[in-house]
Amino acid sequence: MAKNDDNLLKKIVSHSKEYGFIFPSSEIYDGLAATYDYGQNGVELKNNIKQYWWKAMVQMNENIVGIDTAIFMHPTTWKASGHVDAFNDPLIDNKDSKKRYRADVLVEDHIAKIEGKINKEVTKAAKRFGDAFNEEEFVSTNGRVVGYKEKISSIEKRMQEVVDTQNYDDFKKLIEDLDISCPVSGSKNWTDVRQFNLMFSTELGSVAGDASTIYLRPETAQGIFVNYLNVQKSGRMKLPFGIAQIGKAFRNEIIARQFIFRMREFEQMEMQFFVKPGDELDWYEKWKEKRMKWHKALGLGENSYRFHDHLNMAHYANAATDIEYDFPMGFKELEGIHSRTDFDLTAHENHSGKKLQFFDPQENKNYVPYVVETSIGLDRMFLAVLSAAYNEETLEDGSERIVLNIPPALAPTKVAVLPLTKKDGLPEKARELIDELKFDFTAQYDEKDAIGKRYRRQDAIGTPYSVTIDHQTLEDNTVTIRDRDSMEQVRVAMEEVRTTLEKSTSLTELLRKI
Ligand code: ATP
Repeated sequence: MAKNDDNLLKKIVSHSKEYGFIFPSSEIYDGLAATYDYGQNGVELKNNIKQYWWKAMVQMNENIVGIDTAIFMHPTTWKASGHVDAFNDPLIDNKDSKKRYRADVLVEDHIAKIEGKINKEVTKAAKRFGDAFNEEEFVSTNGRVVGYKEKISSIEKRMQEVVDTQNYDDFKKLIEDLDISCPVSGSKNWTDVRQFNLMFSTELGSVAGDASTIYLRPETAQGIFVNYLNVQKSGRMKLPFGIAQIGKAFRNEIIARQFIFRMREFEQMEMQFFVKPGDELDWYEKWKEKRMKWHKALGLGENSYRFHDHLNMAHYANAATDIEYDFPMGFKELEGIHSRTDFDLTAHENHSGKKLQFFDPQENKNYVPYVVETSIGLDRMFLAVLSAAYNEETLEDGSERIVLNIPPALAPTKVAVLPLTKKDGLPEKARELIDELKFDFTAQYDEKDAIGKRYRRQDAIGTPYSVTIDHQTLEDNTVTIRDRDSMEQVRVAMEEVRTTLEKSTSLTELLRKI
């Protein structure tokens, strides 16, 4: 069942700010809508997520290489990719509240409400029937639920039709027929549905008149497609092979909301896998499985993910799915996996006049490879980690703590070193340990306040281990090491701190699981 916890999201937003994970951008000027800055802890977490992805995709696969392409690209790129003509959202305004919405989102929210009704029926029935309850049978036979499900599929069918035909008058009619009202004004006084291109544009060149319009890339994938041949030739790559990239993308989202879930400037981690035509659906299945394994290895919750297969996809795709994560707002897209056929490479061939093909020595012929892509939003992944990690706990003594149970390999700081007091040589001893660890681990020194308070500070930023240096350390070189999750403390020889950190906080152990 989806979490749908507004409160949790609010808590994460304020915790992120208070503890240096995420700040609203240019906050002293009251911020800029849907733009965020990553703080001192946020950047570490973000870098660790990138590392986990990069190593899993590039370092661990012989046939995948990485690149880093420019944000600006030749304007024809976006003509070829279809973004100039078709990267639009259908928009509708409510005349009373003056609020603007994406028409498809209004309809989707309406569907979500009906789904909520189904869930309520299921919960009620589960209570009534107890152990004998068979959910599958109930949802396929209960009259009310079946009725709701039919309603949903008829709405989905109509929505698909308007998306396919781009008949926006029908879109408005659908909204009217469903009796959808503005969440702000409550009125049904809608404008017509219009198209709105999501790309940001700017001018290249300094002389007025000479300048030409260029775009901030709305996805990183096109930088990979236009470099397909450069990489294939310079790396002597043979099919199947992949090209991966992490980088910024920009979209002028209409309703940018839900914190870092939907931003106007965000980061993507994309991989295009080039295969022989005909092999694409096998690879699509393999990548679905591999990517899900990557997610689940983090331990953010076995039941927190689901595939949402697209039944109706873009004309150039022959299979598409989303990996959805159970965010505080419910299940939403975290990653997309698409079988994109030869659409992009062929479009670039046509627009550039350059061949983008592969010579297959076995078949002794040239062809345009097919592509399977995996595309994940880094910021959304960050939000998934934070929402799984954030926990408020009541301890045995009745006190409360907020702890971020971040997977240790992703934690911003791996270890805190805390001298019990500020004197008697304890700080020096603590510094000695930090100086030894800092080459390999992010380590923090903290001597301020009582030790309990210092532990809480580390819990709040998700530091998996805190090492305390006390008077006994000076005598026998032992320290106590406290585990963030269990709060258990054990006394170990100082050298063992490194062994523990290597074993429990390294990406290697995580990568071994996938
Ligand atoms: P949505 O339907 O949520 O707008 P999308 O289907 O347009 O997403 P894709 O074009 O498939 O998204 O982009 C791949 C990934 O990039 C998404 O799965 C998501 O994680 C991320 N992403 C897309 N748009 C944004 C955004 N505005 N802010 C943050 N991440 C984004």
